[in-house]
Amino acid sequence: MVVMKFGGTSVADRAAVERLVSIVRAARQVAIQPEAMDWRGPVVVVSALGGATDRLLGVAAEAGAGDIEGAIENLRALRARHLEVAGVITKPADRAEVEAFIGNEFNELERIVGALGVLREVSPRWLDTVAAQGEILSSRIVAAALASHGLGAAWIDARQAIVTDDEFTSAAPLIPETTAALARVVDPVLADRRVPVIGGFVGATREGVTTTLGRGGSDYSAAIIGACLGASEIQIWTDVDGMLTSDPRIVKDVHVVPHLSFAEASELAYFGAKVLHPATIQPAVGQNIPVRILNSRRPEDSTGTLITRDRPPTGHPLTAVAAKKGVTVVDITSTRMLMAHGFLRRIFEAFETHKTSVDVVTTSEVSVSVTIDDSRRLPAIARALAEVAEVTHEEHMAIVCAVGEGLQTDSSFVSELLATVKGVPIRLVSQAGTRRNITLVIREVDLAQTLNRVHERFFTTVHHAANKQ
Ligand code: ASP
Ligand code: MG
Repeated sequence: MVVMKFGGTSVADRAAVERLVSIVRAARQVAIQPEAMDWRGPVVVVSALGGATDRLLGVAAEAGAGDIEGAIENLRALRARHLEVAGVITKPADRAEVEAFIGNEFNELERIVGALGVLREVSPRWLDTVAAQGEILSSRIVAAALASHGLGAAWIDARQAIVTDDEFTSAAPLIPETTAALARVVDPVLADRRVPVIGGFVGATREGVTTTLGRGGSDYSAAIIGACLGASEIQIWTDVDGMLTSDPRIVKDVHVVPHLSFAEASELAYFGAKVLHPATIQPAVGQNIPVRILNSRRPEDSTGTLITRDRPPTGHPLTAVAAKKGVTVVDITSTRMLMAHGFLRRIFEAFETHKTSVDVVTTSEVSVSVTIDDSRRLPAIARALAEVAEVTHEEHMAIVCAVGEGLQTDSSFVSELLATVKGVPIRLVSQAGTRRNITLVIREVDLAQTLNRVHERFFTTVHHAANKQ
């Protein structure tokens, strides 16, 4: 059975929900083929309508600030938008039922917002109750839309299906409880040859109090559901063709990476988390369930990107080359603690105390260089280290990160990479022991030509050669 997760842009309006209906219909037709291994499913997981979660959080913030009128005005706009999208439900009786549901939920939200506005305080618990409505409403609309288009579909209330701890706004799923809950509410629907539709992002505590899994949590929901139900594949339907070989804003002829290992996806996460954060699909990949990223705007043309725990070798060293601008290099040179142990601890402690995360690290006997994205607390960090080190920094730097499982077996790659970027001043170089990536830190002004040269050398020629065969 396949889990199909549709992100916010894939349910943003009526046209998007209509596309979703045809994508699910096609999947259902595959499942009911006589030769299909498993006639169950798919299971559909949906995000809130694109932008709805932001708006709901905005409403909660307005209520917390005592602006009840502003909050209610925003709720009215959101209500109208949901009613508009519910127009995709073709059967009048079904549509009327969903319209009544939307009406009730928004009436309830208005009451909650009124109360929060008087208290002028929004606890994480209430924040979750408000934010969760996005997925509760979208899933209800999508279930009815599928049903009215002749696909036997059933709405599953995520609060009955995903059991979590009580860390409101970033709750963690309780796996044994969730497995049992899914067996109770989803299995009968599957056994009845219908399509269960569940809102992502949302769960509830053992006591039934609404929780959310954190921003972007619908991918996480899909992975949890897939892992608990033993899915054969998890599809993440979004508005791009998949993970790309490089940054399309800088490199012209990028193409979709057909297959990534989970470790490669994790290395790329720092650069390309917009598509999917690999940590969220860990529950699935941990159980060896493949995850596929697909484009809901072009379902016929896109084969997407497949992410699996391991992947077969491609014969090429690189899988993708990512880049990031706006990086600051910090050089920390020891003045007093030369050759003394504990120097690294002191350095990283200073970064930790000042909540600044470090990305690339290189060391020599007397100095350590790191890159940071956020340099606001650098003066404080320099002061904290003043006793033992001299701290200097350079802004407007960029990171180029070449990632590929193939690097492990290609001993000449680093020299080829350096030959390719000959003439570009390189500030730092780092190769991790796992040898899945080589990172270069260069000046921002050199980024475009460097990235294009690397892509041209390791991807364009490879791609063309493969196409000519
Ligand atoms: N709607 C939630 C958010 O915007 C969850 C998700 O879409 O994944 O964060
Ligand atoms: Mg997302």
